Amino acid sequence: MNDPEMYSQEHDEMDECVQALSRVHAFLRNELVERDADIIRLHLHACERCMENFEIESTITEMIQRSQPEPSAPATLAARVRAMRISSRH
Ligand SMILES: [Zn+2]
Repeated sequence: MNDPEMYSQEHDEMDECVQALSRVHAFLRNELVERDADIIRLHLHACERCMENFEIESTITEMIQRSQPEPSAPATLAARVRAMRISSRH
């Protein structure tokens, strides 16, 4: 019934999601150090909801960057994320 531990755990998970999503934009722009990027990647692996949000954000970011003439295309990052998703299916 009223289980305070369950509530606090749920809250922790929410907190992880908030932290992951707050860094998604920096992650997409390759602005995070490798260690922080790993934390995001691990969370996306574990959390379907954030993976969905991440895919939406990455699609939007790619669209914006494609529409800009700047040559800073995050092709390697996109490839890395795609490789990560493929390897997670095994
Ligand atoms: Zn999450």
